Amino acid sequence: MPVQCQHCDNPPCVKVCPTGASHKRKDGIVLVHKDKCIGCKYCIAACPYNVRIIKKEGYIEKCRFCIEFIEKGEKPACLTTCMTGVRMFGDLDDPTSEISKFIVKHKLKQFKAELNTKPRIYYKRG
Ligand code: SF4
Ligand code: SF4
Repeated sequence: MPVQCQHCDNPPCVKVCPTGASHKRKDGIVLVHKDKCIGCKYCIAACPYNVRIIKKEGYIEKCRFCIEFIEKGEKPACLTTCMTGVRMFGDLDDPTSEISKFIVKHKLKQFKAELNTKPRIYYKRG
């Protein structure tokens, strides 16, 4: 099962970050300000999905949902490059969006939902 940053709505990585480098945007995407990151690794310890890495330059990196593409109205690279087309991306706040309806129709599940991190990634198989 591919596991990436789950862009949690209740993200422990953001709560423990002492500098505000890890943050949640208004649209729900969790990102890291490279210039604010001091490399303390608190967020690595706090993330229950083990998806953060520290770069040799001393800052944290993880899935960013290809934010530059999204802001241009395009899709993340994992969608456009996936040869079997298994990924979807969309607006979970809109109950009429294709992805919201798909989640309801197929009863998709979140990974480690019991941790109350409120992940924004859903999986079709349990
Ligand atoms: S998956 Fe980990 S890095 Fe991503 S938002 Fe959740 S706690 Fe933070
Ligand atoms: S390593 Fe960087 S992003 Fe992670 S908690 Fe420390 S300052 Fe924040």
